[in-house]
Amino acid sequence: MSTFQAPRGTYDLLPPDSATYLAVREAIAEPLKNSGYGYVETPGFESVELFARGVGESTDIVSKEMYAFETKGGSKLALRPEGTASVLRAALEANLHKQGVLPVKLWYSGSYYRYEKPQKGRYRHFSQVGAEAIGAEDPALDAELIILADQAYRSLGLRQFRILLNSLGDQECRPVYREALQGFLRGLDLDEETRRRIEINPLRVLDDKRSEVQKQLVGAPSLRDYLCEACRAYHDEVRALLTGAGVVFEDDEKLVRGLDYYTRTTFEFVHDGLGSQSAVGGGGRYDGLSEMLGGPALPSVGWALGVDRTVLALRAEGVELEIPASTSVFAVPLGEEARRVLFGVVTRLRKEGVATDFAYGGRGLKGAMKVANRSGARYTIVAGERDLAEGVVQLKDMESGEQNAIPLADVVAEVAARLS
Ligand code: ATP
Ligand code: MG
Repeated sequence: MSTFQAPRGTYDLLPPDSATYLAVREAIAEPLKNSGYGYVETPGFESVELFARGVGESTDIVSKEMYAFETKGGSKLALRPEGTASVLRAALEANLHKQGVLPVKLWYSGSYYRYEKPQKGRYRHFSQVGAEAIGAEDPALDAELIILADQAYRSLGLRQFRILLNSLGDQECRPVYREALQGFLRGLDLDEETRRRIEINPLRVLDDKRSEVQKQLVGAPSLRDYLCEACRAYHDEVRALLTGAGVVFEDDEKLVRGLDYYTRTTFEFVHDGLGSQSAVGGGGRYDGLSEMLGGPALPSVGWALGVDRTVLALRAEGVELEIPASTSVFAVPLGEEARRVLFGVVTRLRKEGVATDFAYGGRGLKGAMKVANRSGARYTIVAGERDLAEGVVQLKDMESGEQNAIPLADVVAEVAARLS
């Protein structure tokens, strides 16, 4: 233990668990890379104003959870709490939407920061993999993203997740619904903060987790009854495409999600083994966001999946990812000369792409073999003075226990051949 500890609400990723996190990130990214999404990386901080406008002043993210600070130069910045606003900002800044065919499809992976009350599945530093398809209004694009997330989770072996789907309407029908909902909500017995929310972001009240609120929401006007013809047709098409792809989803009228900028399609992936932090990922269409950031009209859709909660979901389902041993060959020298010779073999094997490690620190045979065992290596190469005098090394298959003397000059080729 040192004097220091990881800050509250954060944790370190360390071997061997960190391999699972890497594998999860890769599994989520894989279907995206395979579907025309290009990698984007943006700074870990942005101007506070970007999030205030792009996520919304009335959201918990901006009003309560943001790590905002002023720099020595007087700029007001915030650690990024989410990815969409930054990615759209970057795409607009680089004029990606003018350079080719729309949509611009991007994926990202990184750290996000929210000042939250830490609990299981809710941290102040967490990791997301996300995707955004910018500049096209096409139900197939909404369906594509949901299908790719479903595919990612399935490829990880997750089964106990559900997809909740809703439509939030658009600029035409949502305001009419909003007003009807406000009328209904104003008549309920609610606390001050929730009353304020009715005026700023009434749809969020539907999202309230408290049972005393939920009880009163029975009979609230339903957005489904207010969707305009265009939104209804769009939503039906998304649903039909998902069904056609064999993706099972649940219609969830109460799904509004936290961000102000969502329009039409909105969805969440929930996992039933996670307790109250059940959302493993979510997303939706954000047709108005580009204009809110001062850009042209660029209807877009995207999602972000939480890596931390996905790992918890794997644990909850008892899924062990098959992570290949990171070391294939372990070299154990006995004596000074063998150390120099085997170190050369190690370097040559690595150049050949064979994952190789070495017994450092001059330990004895027994201790070194223990380390070799723990490394998961399939082969060990052991050499002492007598072996070198004969021009050989001992190659041991750690699975079968079989050991052969191999000419030193051939060992790299021999090991590479055996492993392939
Ligand atoms: P919640 O309702 O649980 O607060 P959210 O709606 O704030 O979730 P999003 O902004 O949609 O979450 O982020 C997408 C995903 O990122 C979530 O589904 C979750 O997996 C993950 N995530 C969000 N906040 C956190 C956090 N504080 N700690 C760990 N993961 C998080
Ligand atoms: Mg949240």
